[in-house]
Amino acid sequence: MKINEALIARLHLAGTAIIVAVLVLVMGVQSIRQIRQEYDSSIQALQLRDLQHHQDFLRQQMTVAQGFLTHMRNHTEQVLKEQIREQVDEAYAMATAIYTREHGRRPDAAIRALIVEALRPLRFFGGKGYFFVDGLDGRCLLLPISPGREGTSLLLNRDDQGALIMQGLIAAAGKPVGQGFYRYRWYAPNDPAHMADKISYVRAFAPLHLLIGSGQYVQDVEAVLQHQALEWLRTYRFGAQNRGYFLVYSADGRVLLSPSRPSHEGERLSALPPDGRAAMGLIEDQAEKGGGFVRYDWSADGNLAHAAPKLVYVSHLPGWNWTLAAGEYVDDFQQTAAEQRAGLQESIQGKIHLTVMVLAVGVMVALLLGWWFSSLTRQLLARYQADIDRQNRELRRKTAALEQSNTDLEQFAYVASHDLREPLRSVSAYITLIERQYGQNFDEDGRMFLGFVRDGAKRMDRLVLDLLQFSRIDRLGDPIRPMMAAAALDEALQGLAAAIVETGAAIDLDPAIAQAAVLGDFAQVERLFQNLIGNALKYRSPERAPRIGITLAETRDEDRAYWEFSVRDNGQGIDPASFERIFGIFQRLHPREVEGTGIGLAVCKRIVERHGGRLWLESVPGQGSRFYFTLPQAEAAEVDPPPP
Ligand code: ADP
Repeated sequence: MKINEALIARLHLAGTAIIVAVLVLVMGVQSIRQIRQEYDSSIQALQLRDLQHHQDFLRQQMTVAQGFLTHMRNHTEQVLKEQIREQVDEAYAMATAIYTREHGRRPDAAIRALIVEALRPLRFFGGKGYFFVDGLDGRCLLLPISPGREGTSLLLNRDDQGALIMQGLIAAAGKPVGQGFYRYRWYAPNDPAHMADKISYVRAFAPLHLLIGSGQYVQDVEAVLQHQALEWLRTYRFGAQNRGYFLVYSADGRVLLSPSRPSHEGERLSALPPDGRAAMGLIEDQAEKGGGFVRYDWSADGNLAHAAPKLVYVSHLPGWNWTLAAGEYVDDFQQTAAEQRAGLQESIQGKIHLTVMVLAVGVMVALLLGWWFSSLTRQLLARYQADIDRQNRELRRKTAALEQSNTDLEQFAYVASHDLREPLRSVSAYITLIERQYGQNFDEDGRMFLGFVRDGAKRMDRLVLDLLQFSRIDRLGDPIRPMMAAAALDEALQGLAAAIVETGAAIDLDPAIAQAAVLGDFAQVERLFQNLIGNALKYRSPERAPRIGITLAETRDEDRAYWEFSVRDNGQGIDPASFERIFGIFQRLHPREVEGTGIGLAVCKRIVERHGGRLWLESVPGQGSRFYFTLPQAEAAEVDPPPP
């Protein structure tokens, strides 16, 4: 793939788009999740509030009903008294009418009998109520339920608690009108073996010394009142759809009121259909626990497919020992809640739309900015690329010029040194001829001068030869190939054998060198060793025999591994200030005392550089020097075997 400013800009844009997309996705998901959570918790709160309201509402209905029923029950006695007073007042009016009509026409005893007989057949309170008439002396005149007692005195009659009934009645008759009530115990009509509470109202009919009264059993009134209470409850409806109603169960486990299924009324739990049984069971259980809420599914028509959940509040009515249950269909109540929920949902949707819009606008802006930055990047990169291209062109031009000038210089050095040798050779040849043929004609000075000329020519030849060699290193070297460093070192030492013997030098060779394969030009590596060892011999200390060590180590740079050779001597040493200078061409530190051209180290440096290595030194003047150079490592296996 070609990397250019357009690709980088496109990558930049794509990167921005991906980052924005990921961010938007994460933010979007996060916000929507948060909105959903808010919605859920609002719905939960709403549901909880609804339930609370619903419960409060049912409790309130129960309180109303309980209040009314309690009030009714508490007023049983009052109602009872009112009812019998009304009856007795009517009987009294009747007696008065008879008396007014008959008085003077018949004797009092006959009028008394008329009144008694007029009252005898009258019944009320569902047939249970009747009138009794007694004389104010305690004699019974009318007792429809026990006519056998009529004519007898009941003055000493007691109830099961010892109270003298007749005397109580006579005393009551003596009270002001409207207050003649007397409470006692009397045989219960449905259970004559036992007595039950009874209240009677009596009025004294003074003209005939009579006492007219009527009584009623408290329990009878209660039954009537209960009946009225149930009828009242039957019509009692509540709730949004008016579908809430009351259920009533008696203490002995019968259904007293079931407005949705009146057919259940009067039945016991066991006689109910399964759904009714289940509902009643739940309600009764809850009542036993002291009341509270129950839920069940219910349908008025008994069809399970129409059943809907109901919430029912159960409570106990203490006086009558009733279980009251106020129930309402949950759906009815929740209609308002559903509206609220719809509103909430709408607002949530609005929020989500807004979030999406904001994110979309954010994406657009981010992408526009990304696009703008990427085109800016493209422009800058294009400018930068143009700069680099221009610099590269300049560099290539300079390199080409340098290469050209280098080649020219090498060419020049080569041609110069090569061509200079020619005249030099003829100078040397003619000097030798002159010395040989005319030597004896020269005087002492003449021969000395001739010697100077010959030495000069020889020196010049050396210089030219060295220069020639130097100029050939890059251009005319052999190819670089794997070789054994030890072979080149051997050759070099053989070349220096005479000088080694002459100087009495000791040479220490690192045995590892025998294995070191390098990438090199054999002749040049040999020259390298020869120049460095040659210098170690040449610049030896006058005070001690030369001792030369050649060592091997391994190094590497980021690209490859090298062998690091060093040639150490115990010679005169070099002042560190001259370290740089001695590698320059024709640079010498000992121009007079030791023969040389000052090219040796420059040649070494050039050879090492041609091989891609480094050359440097350490030295202490007066103690010795150590020259280091590196050559790229090669595989010993790749080295060509020496020619046979
Ligand atoms: P040449 O030996 O022909 O003078 P080189 O280029 O080989 O030229 O050396 C340059 C100079 O560096 C020498 O003249 C000498 O002064 C100094 N030199 C080189 N090698 C050594 C050495 N081993 N000990 C001391 N001086 C040295």
